Amino acid sequence: MDLAFLEKAFALIAKGLIEKEQLLQKEPTRYPYSKELQHGINMFLTASIQVGKVGGNVFEWADEASFLRQFITRPIPEWFLEWSPDVVRELNLEDQPFYGYEAFARRRNENIYIPSSECYEFLDTQDKDIISGTDERVLYEKMFLLGQDAYCRLRRYLIEHPIITIDEKRMMRVELADDRMGREAFEFAYEEITEESFRCPYCGWTMTRGKYGFNCHSPHCTDIVPELTDNMKLDISSGMFRLKKGIMRYFAQPGKLELAIADFCEKKKLSWTLWPYMDKFDVEIRFSDGEVWEIDAKAYRNPITLRTKIQNDNGFPVGDYTRGYFVVPSEYTLGQRNYTAVVNKALKQQTNVKCITLRTLKSEISQKEAKILAAD
Ligand SMILES: [Zn+2]
Repeated sequence: MDLAFLEKAFALIAKGLIEKEQLLQKEPTRYPYSKELQHGINMFLTASIQVGKVGGNVFEWADEASFLRQFITRPIPEWFLEWSPDVVRELNLEDQPFYGYEAFARRRNENIYIPSSECYEFLDTQDKDIISGTDERVLYEKMFLLGQDAYCRLRRYLIEHPIITIDEKRMMRVELADDRMGREAFEFAYEEITEESFRCPYCGWTMTRGKYGFNCHSPHCTDIVPELTDNMKLDISSGMFRLKKGIMRYFAQPGKLELAIADFCEKKKLSWTLWPYMDKFDVEIRFSDGEVWEIDAKAYRNPITLRTKIQNDNGFPVGDYTRGYFVVPSEYTLGQRNYTAVVNKALKQQTNVKCITLRTLKSEISQKEAKILAAD
């Protein structure tokens, strides 16, 4: 049994679920069929047979509908319940990057399933070619052509403005009049809102009514947001624009944490820089004693996603810093107290780098400042 084969199976299943969701948004009346999902299903079942899980039921699950009914709303570890415990141990499944995930989808009705945030996060740990050509990649490529200052200004603007009016768009165009590449990146990031939409009270992007309930960029928003009211409704009559979905999800939403860190540094009157060295880090802090800390803000709810991303990137970027931190939103650790411990397993080689919450970062900064004061 090849573990890479199994991981690919999960990647195709996750990708297929999201593809089905997109097809359903486009054509709600047609059954959304995804070749990749079926491919992933075949691979998972093949793996099950290879490890000796033979018998009638493997073949009963070979068609998409029965497979989804059997597996897709169950946490990933439960997919392996019928595998022999010896095999699970030998393959060290518990430590595999696909294992520690909640269900990839929720059932919406008879045979329609919505992919979960876990599904999106897992897919984000997969090969670049699985996500290449997406809006967020194209935007990054355009923005890397900008100079450091223009890059920072535009990046902050996009994070702070998930929705803009036509007047705001005009103003930004004027501001970017002398910067053709900046204007190009800006124009690319937004699309016109053409259907009835509400402002999502959680993330500030749009909520739209689909055939099966409301949709935002993340299933997480629809899970936690209560009733939408009329005063959240957007007046699109004179033209409104929103970030493209992938840009909201992978670019703007995680950026809020970066800005929260920068705001804290500003409040503390520290010397700080956002996205230094063309985005090698998210925030750099220079203390008055000369010490430099580099920070990479990460907004993955599942610690295994973050650990896998770190492993794929070979750890924290090297540089001339005393301490490096991967910082996650404090609320992500509420339901999973071992969050940072899971991630820190991957950082044993880099003794000056740690994963901590925003709350811990704030207290480490305050302690550092107190030390500098005491030494003065
Ligand atoms: Zn939202």
